[in-house]
Amino acid sequence: MTDRIAESEDTVRQRWGMRGTAGATIAGGLDIETVAFSVGEVHILHNVSFSVKPGEIACLLGPSGCGKTTLLRLVAGLERPEAGRILLDGQEVAGPSAFVPPERRKIGLMFQDFALFPHMTVLKNVAFGLRDLGRKEAKGIALHALERVGLASRRQDYPHMLSGGEQQRVALARALVPRPQVLLLDEPFSGLDERLREQVRDETLALLRETRATVMLVTHDPEEAMGIADRILMMRRGRLVQEGTPHDVFTRPADPEATRFFSTVNELWGKVKAGNIDTPLGTFAAGNLTEGEPALVMIRPQGLRLARGQVGIEGYVLEARFMGETTRCSVLFKGIEEPLTAVIGGSQRPEKGHTAQFKVDDDQVHVFAQGGQRPI
Ligand code: ADP
Ligand code: MG
Repeated sequence: MTDRIAESEDTVRQRWGMRGTAGATIAGGLDIETVAFSVGEVHILHNVSFSVKPGEIACLLGPSGCGKTTLLRLVAGLERPEAGRILLDGQEVAGPSAFVPPERRKIGLMFQDFALFPHMTVLKNVAFGLRDLGRKEAKGIALHALERVGLASRRQDYPHMLSGGEQQRVALARALVPRPQVLLLDEPFSGLDERLREQVRDETLALLRETRATVMLVTHDPEEAMGIADRILMMRRGRLVQEGTPHDVFTRPADPEATRFFSTVNELWGKVKAGNIDTPLGTFAAGNLTEGEPALVMIRPQGLRLARGQVGIEGYVLEARFMGETTRCSVLFKGIEEPLTAVIGGSQRPEKGHTAQFKVDDDQVHVFAQGGQRPI
């Protein structure tokens, strides 16, 4: 008898893992190869290709309607690709030679609205993903999962009795218990109010790291993607436009649209002359852009700084709003019609209705050809 209990406890540990020991998931890689998808005449995804390495947290980032959820549904097997292949841990699950149904893919899926069963207790909701096991074993594993997310004491409650953050943790536990090779999370924090979001995000990230899950997380929020991703996959209108670390995509955005997606940007047009672009805020290197052609200079608000005692470019501070850690200013410069936005950090704050000396931080400047290409 004692042996049986010990054995099932062991199974439980293997399945779910204890804090700081083996992970809950058997991380597998995910490969998307030139996947296309249409509904009727409407092309929703165009030749999307990327890979997610085992144990990696990849964020699919893009504006609403760009095809993120559709891509998750294809990976989960809820839709079939029109062309291309999807491989899970090296095995084709969708493509010309195979279609593995959703229940046979080792995928964990968490929807935007959490999709908990309202008529089931928290424990039963989590155990739902373990239908192939005996009831007792499934409950044991589900309880461990709930302990892991700090909700064991709420196991007999129903979803409506929980806060948004707690519901999110139940949904996450439910997606993780079957030890998926890949975990798909669709806008997992968007249902939470702002105040909670950061905390829940940090807790979720800690849990995902601990379970060493391979994760594909979908979000339209660049800040969220930067805070959680090992790698960001930027999507737009059904295409993958850029991939890289959060640092890569923020500091080397692929084109003007990608630059704007991360923050408000100040935009100035100039002409390429002798390898440079002259603007009222200074001269910027034009790389290989064509001589005589117009070029776009984009300056992030953090890139407009106070010159602090040095000679700079004079600007008139139309507006200065104190935001706590920064001051957000609207500044008029000679030769530029519209005021520019400057976000000034630190204690030295420009005053509304006064002039101040500004300088431009070259690291926060992105130059593009008229057609949107980045110079080399
Ligand atoms: P996202 O998750 O990035 O907001 P979706 O993948 O939900 O975007 O949708 C991408 C586009 O495809 C949208 O324009 C949406 O209206 C359209 N779409 C998605 N699914 C269907 C469908 N079943 N029928 C028709 N249009 C669809
Ligand atoms: Mg969506």
